[in-house]
Amino acid sequence: MTGDVFDDLVGQPEAVETLRAASAAADLILRGQPSPPGVMTHSWLFTGPAGSGRSTAARAFAAALQCVRGGVGCGECSGCHTVLAGTHSDVRFVVPDGLSIPVAQMRELVLRAASAPTAGRWQVLVVADADRLTEAAGNALLKAVEEPPDRTVFLLCAPSTHPDDISVTIRSRCRLVPLRQPGADAVASLLTRRDGVPADVAAWAAAAAQGHVGRARRLAADSHARTRRDAVLAVPRQLTTVGACFDAAASLIEAAEAEAVDAVAAVDAAERSALEMALGAGGTGKGAAGAARGSAGQLKELEKRQKSRATRAQRDALDRALMDLAGFYRDVLNAQFGAAVAPIHTDVDQVTRAAAAKWRPESTLRRLEAVLACREAIDTNVKPKIAVEAMMLALWRG
Ligand SMILES: [Zn+2]
Repeated sequence: MTGDVFDDLVGQPEAVETLRAASAAADLILRGQPSPPGVMTHSWLFTGPAGSGRSTAARAFAAALQCVRGGVGCGECSGCHTVLAGTHSDVRFVVPDGLSIPVAQMRELVLRAASAPTAGRWQVLVVADADRLTEAAGNALLKAVEEPPDRTVFLLCAPSTHPDDISVTIRSRCRLVPLRQPGADAVASLLTRRDGVPADVAAWAAAAAQGHVGRARRLAADSHARTRRDAVLAVPRQLTTVGACFDAAASLIEAAEAEAVDAVAAVDAAERSALEMALGAGGTGKGAAGAARGSAGQLKELEKRQKSRATRAQRDALDRALMDLAGFYRDVLNAQFGAAVAPIHTDVDQVTRAAAAKWRPESTLRRLEAVLACREAIDTNVKPKIAVEAMMLALWRG
């Protein structure tokens, strides 16, 4: 292995080839030399399911564009390093805190992306979840994408090219880089190679994470993540009465809330103390009362943003739990049909086989559908508690 910036992009040979060719062409353009036409372009759209590595791909490409060793993405030069560390002055990452990316943030970023690159190569704007742009923010971005400055590159990431995820007009201006769900083998070998995870743990985590690289890494490294998953996989056995269904729903929601609190607590506290510091909290001098009124507004604004981020984190946590649960029912179904597919949850093999012997395939399928319906309901803004309770009852009835 070369160990360059594309190394982390597992199971995506076509995408890596496209991006390597583009960054090599981009380097020729910078040096004023003839470059193959159409290989490098200003706007890119990375699509693929969650965990397929959309933002990893965008980040690697950004690093290769800033690589001072001829745009190869060597992974060792100052350009590559600073991009990967998130500190390069000409690469900005837009990662939405909450449920959507506000227009003000997008306008500011677009403006900065239009300025000349300070390090002499490219100005790169990476929008990690372009599907969370508000309509107004999307329009602000579209204007820039339609008439990109010479040295500006836009890298957008979205689950798919569906109009729900990305506007048709933005899509039409972008070169598409489709990513697929990497296979469990590819994910496992990445965990072993890069993080030093033992091969058997890596194989288990990669299968359980269903192709989601970040999730696989967490399962391999974080005992809390493993405990939460164990609790989710215990749910099917707990549904013995109506009361048990409501209890299971309540604990699933609570677990997602707790996980979300853990996920955002450190960032929330850091943001608050930074803001208080900036506002000079505790000032008593002349004008302090007026300043206090202004700072109350800013604190309120911060709290609003943090609340939105917490809601997002909670939904993400709940969705991961539902994916684990869906994986269990899929394993049961595969066992019932003797399908030659590798199981997702290899460590609960006995429970899977017991369920396969006890249930009829139709009722397993109904259960799987109930989990998927619950995900969809939450996605369309049904209150999580309502959706999860309905699901638990359906899982119990079978
Ligand atoms: Zn480099």
